Amino acid sequence: MKVSHIEHLGIAVKSLQDAIPYYENILGLKCYNVEEVADQKVKTAFFMVGQTKIELLESTDPEGTIAKFIEKKGEGVHHVAFAVEDGVNSALAEVAGKGVQLIDKQGRKGAEGLTIAFLHPKSTQGVLTELCEKS
Ligand code: ZN
Repeated sequence: MKVSHIEHLGIAVKSLQDAIPYYENILGLKCYNVEEVADQKVKTAFFMVGQTKIELLESTDPEGTIAKFIEKKGEGVHHVAFAVEDGVNSALAEVAGKGVQLIDKQGRKGAEGLTIAFLHPKSTQGVLTELCEKS
C-alpha cells in the first residue's frame, strides 16, 4: 500500500460547541465543515492544517463508540487516518494478508465523502488506525 499523507487526526470531545473555540480562538484555525455521520453516531467538525485535517468527534448516542471511548479514557486523540493512494479495499486485503486484525473488512462511507476503514488497535501498537481515500 502507498500512504500519501496523514489525512486527519480524529479527536474525541464531549462537546463540539465547547471544543471548537479552542481551535478557532487559540490556534487560529477555521472550522470549515460540521457534519453528522449517522452510522457512526457522531457529529464531526473539521479544520484544515496544511494538507492534514483535525476531525473533532462528538458522540450523538451514549452507547456510541466515541461516548464509550471518552468514558474509558477521557477526551483526547482517538485515531490517526492515513490517505492511501491505491484504494482502501486493496490496502485492507494487503494488510489482512500480513496478519493485521481489521475492524472493517471493506471500505465504508465516512465524513467528507471519504471511503474509510479501521484497523484494530491490537495490531497497531494501540493506535486506532483509519485508512481512507477520496470516493
Ligand atoms: Zn476519522
